[in-house]
Amino acid sequence: MSIKAVRGFKDILPEESAKWHLVEEVAREVFRGFGLSEIRTPILEKTELFARGIGEQTDIVEKEMYTFEDRNGDMLTLRPEATAGIIRAYIEHKLHGRGGVCRLFTMGPMFRHERPQKGRLRQFHQINVEILGSHSPLADAEVMWLAWQVLQDLGIEGLRLEVNSLGCPQCRPAHRQDLLTFLENVSGELCPDCNRRRKRNPLRVFDCKNQGCRDALRLAPLIKHYMCPDCAGHLGQALDFLEGVGIPFVWNPYLVRGLDYYTRTTFEIVASGLGAQSTVAAGGRYDGLVKELGGPDVPGVGMAIGVERLMLLLEDEVEQELADLFIAALGRDAREEVVPWLKELRAGGFIVQMSYEDKGLKAQLKQADRLRSRYVLIVGEDELDEEVLKLRRMADGAQEEIPLDEAVQRISEILGKESEDE
Ligand code: ATP
Ligand code: MG
Repeated sequence: MSIKAVRGFKDILPEESAKWHLVEEVAREVFRGFGLSEIRTPILEKTELFARGIGEQTDIVEKEMYTFEDRNGDMLTLRPEATAGIIRAYIEHKLHGRGGVCRLFTMGPMFRHERPQKGRLRQFHQINVEILGSHSPLADAEVMWLAWQVLQDLGIEGLRLEVNSLGCPQCRPAHRQDLLTFLENVSGELCPDCNRRRKRNPLRVFDCKNQGCRDALRLAPLIKHYMCPDCAGHLGQALDFLEGVGIPFVWNPYLVRGLDYYTRTTFEIVASGLGAQSTVAAGGRYDGLVKELGGPDVPGVGMAIGVERLMLLLEDEVEQELADLFIAALGRDAREEVVPWLKELRAGGFIVQMSYEDKGLKAQLKQADRLRSRYVLIVGEDELDEEVLKLRRMADGAQEEIPLDEAVQRISEILGKESEDE
């Protein structure tokens, strides 16, 4: 019996990778403009990091982590998200000691043991941004802007940016108290999960996807009515910045991130065309997290884009170019003659391929066709004898004669000229 991939883990096949490159390139280009640097942290971390960083009471830590004991008896976890690892690295390497604001991004796989479905995998990919060391609402605005810009530059339409504030340790306790009382009163209408968690992490009930719970929460006390002037001012300014750069948003007072260290700004970018898994990007401010993980009291704000969900929104296939030129060399002498040309032409930036097998002309032309090569160079015995080669443009079959002794130079000119015209 043949071995299959693990459930919820997916191969990214060659024909899909051009689309992945496009997404990654667009993100890098946007991040460059904001002065972000890349950080790459390990995929495996100590379990404790996520338990503390994400919170024991979250879905992720309670039931989604890939955790195991290694051969030394250490408890390790495949990272379910990027922030905790990045902050561990930030503290461990004292990046805060370098002064100024630390603007980071990363891209890579995350692992969560969830029920696989459209837009939900067990290994999925995120593009993450974390800005550490600033309280400014401009940092919040930039993080939302960054996420929005990547999706915009990829031409994705039908997106909605939803924003809310979760308040801060000043204004949250009063809200929490009233929310606890409210939830107690409607406990009969809440699902068992919400009832189990409402006492320790009442905000999380806003995150429940259960319709019964949503209905029960319609009259729940909302943070917006409890926000202190500082929090209200912070949100107002962040939204003003967004308005200033023309990014549309809606204030959704029900939006939460159910973790204690999240403070103030929280946001999601939601796509209309994704069904149940509609959130493409999400993020927010987490002023308490660096300290919680043993670092100095440094504020932070970040976001994550779910790449697979983004891919579902990018309809057009992206075709990878596989050959500018296919060299159909016929016979051993011809093959030996042209191999050094491969080197020169590739060094010149062209994509050049040649058959590994010594096949006939017809078979080689067929291969060039399959690769959608723009040109085919025919080098047979006759051509070598006459010292004149044939270069065929595949689009219209037009053929040009190329003198053998200037082959590389002439071909470079022709291939180069065509690229300029495009
Ligand atoms: P959801 O409510 O969909 O489970 P989440 O709140 O768990 O999302 P975050 O932890 O905020 O998600 O992760 C940020 C983004 O990563 C999500 O908005 C989504 O696009 C993507 N994402 C999260 N979990 C998965 C998954 N299992 N498969 C694919 N993408 C995912
Ligand atoms: Mg989830």
